[in-house]
Amino acid sequence: MAVLELRNVTRRFGDFVAVDNISLGIEAGEFFTLLGPSGCGKTTILRMIAGFDLPDAGQILLDGKDVTDTPPEKRPVRTVFQSYALFPHMTVAQNIAFPLKMERLPSDTIRRRTQETLEQVRLTDKANFYPRELSGGQQQRVALGRALSSCPRLLLLDEPLAALDAKLREEMQIELINLQRDVGITFVFVTHAQDEALALSHRIAVMRQGHVEQVDEPSKLYGSPKSRFVAGFVGHINMLEAEVVEAAHGHTRLAIAGLGEVAAPPVTGIEAGANGAFAIRPEQLHIGIHGEATELKNHFPGVVSNLLYCGDVTVYKVKLAGGQMIEALLPNSAPGRAQFFKAGDAVSVGWRHDAGVFLHE
Ligand code: ATP
Repeated sequence: MAVLELRNVTRRFGDFVAVDNISLGIEAGEFFTLLGPSGCGKTTILRMIAGFDLPDAGQILLDGKDVTDTPPEKRPVRTVFQSYALFPHMTVAQNIAFPLKMERLPSDTIRRRTQETLEQVRLTDKANFYPRELSGGQQQRVALGRALSSCPRLLLLDEPLAALDAKLREEMQIELINLQRDVGITFVFVTHAQDEALALSHRIAVMRQGHVEQVDEPSKLYGSPKSRFVAGFVGHINMLEAEVVEAAHGHTRLAIAGLGEVAAPPVTGIEAGANGAFAIRPEQLHIGIHGEATELKNHFPGVVSNLLYCGDVTVYKVKLAGGQMIEALLPNSAPGRAQFFKAGDAVSVGWRHDAGVFLHE
């Protein structure tokens, strides 16, 4: 049974529908992420799960029990906010012990749980420090400790890493993964950063304008996006307008506007004549010298328009014969890749017949 279930949840603000008939199930022990651009309804969903806001329609179930109208303090749910919201006049240990005191637990239980939590968030040596004496990352860990000390069924995290600089953010991402694995509590994480969602989550729900577009594991979301929106929002991708020429069992042929026909992976449920986009990741493209023999079935001439040297990789922007700009990402250390191209070079851009995905309109 799912720990958390949203059934047809809707939230309106006046005429505006912020969350539109969403249904989701989140399993015990999952690191589940709500990912989407600003304003798509992520925080509104989190607030309804916590009980700070009520749906206009639908139900919220925790361990199968309807909690739609249960007040926040009666739900086994804690939230970590981006702002940490620590009590400045309390020490680290007092902040972490606070929810346990609110639950009126016996003092030896409070002492034991506080100690265990301090160890979990690696702050035992900072127990008597005040929040102002800590770094941003340490304050973040206090906020996590305070939310976890009472062993909630669900931990909600609303963009908790957004205020941190890139290096600290990466460190905290690893800490979050380890912490979630160690405590085994179900995390519902909100972010608009797709790289963060891919790095942290067991599953991701991609949201757009109050709707869920796709729920999947990170690798499926990246490798098999089901819509143009998901393909474009999660990672970089090239999209070429295409029409289905032949859709047979085991293979598909597409006509790409201005280029010609390509072999593509099979797509179910489409027929010849269907329009859509052929989407392919920059790292799935190969670049070779124009006119040189290639084993790739799909290859087209183009001219390098720009290149961005990034140390480990180079990103080539190539103008194809059909006029489309396409982005290819090549590792600089790949064996046998002595060939580097420069702006203005005539090249051949190719890809394997099993690479890319056709996205029906
Ligand atoms: P962000 O990443 O910017 O926090 P979000 O995806 O979390 O965005 P929400 O905060 O859930 O988005 O807001 C969804 C939409 O609902 C937004 O357009 C927002 O303006 C609107 N909204 C949220 N709360 C209210 C409110 N109390 N009154 C009116 N409109 C609201």
